[in-house]
Amino acid sequence: MKLGIVGLPNVGKSTLFNAITKAGAEAANYPFCTIEPNVGVVTVPDERLKVLHEMYHSKKTVYTTIEFYDIAGLVKGASKGEGLGNKFLGHIREVEAIVHVVRCFEDPNVVHVDGQIDPLSDIETINLELILSDMEVLERRIQKTTKNLKGDKTLQKELDLLKKIHEFLSSGKSARAMELTEDEAEFVKSLDLLSYKPIIYAANVAEDEAGSGDENEYVKAVRGFAETEGSDTVMICAKIEAEISELDDDEKTMFLEELGIAESGLDKLVKSSYHLLDLISFLTAGEPEVRAWTIKRGTKAPGAAGKIHTDFEKGFIRAETIAYDKLIECGGNLATAKEKGLIRSEGKEYVVQDGDVMHFLFNV
Ligand code: GDP
Repeated sequence: MKLGIVGLPNVGKSTLFNAITKAGAEAANYPFCTIEPNVGVVTVPDERLKVLHEMYHSKKTVYTTIEFYDIAGLVKGASKGEGLGNKFLGHIREVEAIVHVVRCFEDPNVVHVDGQIDPLSDIETINLELILSDMEVLERRIQKTTKNLKGDKTLQKELDLLKKIHEFLSSGKSARAMELTEDEAEFVKSLDLLSYKPIIYAANVAEDEAGSGDENEYVKAVRGFAETEGSDTVMICAKIEAEISELDDDEKTMFLEELGIAESGLDKLVKSSYHLLDLISFLTAGEPEVRAWTIKRGTKAPGAAGKIHTDFEKGFIRAETIAYDKLIECGGNLATAKEKGLIRSEGKEYVVQDGDVMHFLFNV
């Protein structure tokens, strides 16, 4: 899963991104040896793997990962190709979701590009660049479809929808905020619009506000806006994330407790992206390794098998599966689970559930 970090200058992007790269998966745990400097890889926390690791005395635990891309440089005028604008818009096209860091901290020593802190105006600035770029895409598409309509009258519906989206965007709203039928949504998805990508607003607050239960007015404003377009908001403190990234797991827990923070901002970001992209994890467990795999909710058993290896999908026969909770009830003992009839044999149509511990049987 690829997420792109964007935001205006001086909002805390680099601070957050550096925390991500430091906290990130060691290169040794990551099968591709060269990680580009603008990519940070983090593991998706999953307590279940720790439990399974103990139960199976596994040699290895492999977490699933998320890649964060630092897409700095998106500024006003990007859609006009100002500066390196267009290149950055191109980078956004390649990610599955956007993390927009919004400044919600006051600090007289850190200059705001527009002279004052106004998260909603920051959001509008960035979103507008994406919207303008989308409008250009739509205009070209409308032209093409209008031309093709002469030979193919069935394109009328598509043309109407393209115009409807264009009109919506010209009101300054992102495509993701549009109400669409399932068919329409399918079509809009195929257009690959930037303002249709799922987005998480990362409200970057001051150190002394990160632990307080109350959100400051800036964060509330961000959350309020996010809700109007079905987006998520995560409150983080980039500075604290930077400090945590230097610590090991135990130290991290203690440090967060001292500050009264229940969960690190990075963990919250990861969870939120799972939620936003409608992802779940299934698990595989054995002595060689316990491992989590990411799939889209609704994926059927062969598709899940294909995550592990394409051969598993091609030659899929069936899956032996047990829900994680049921396995724990049996003390992780598969024989007991089998006796109790808790291990199910599922076929091609089985929709994999979050926390399913799976074993695939396949033809080679
Ligand atoms: P970028 O331009 O968006 O990448 O912003 P940076 O990460 O370089 O941060 C700009 C300045 O804001 C730096 O001096 C940071 O130390 C400061 N900064 C970032 N996050 C926080 C924060 O949570 N609290 C405070 N007080 N300062 C922050």
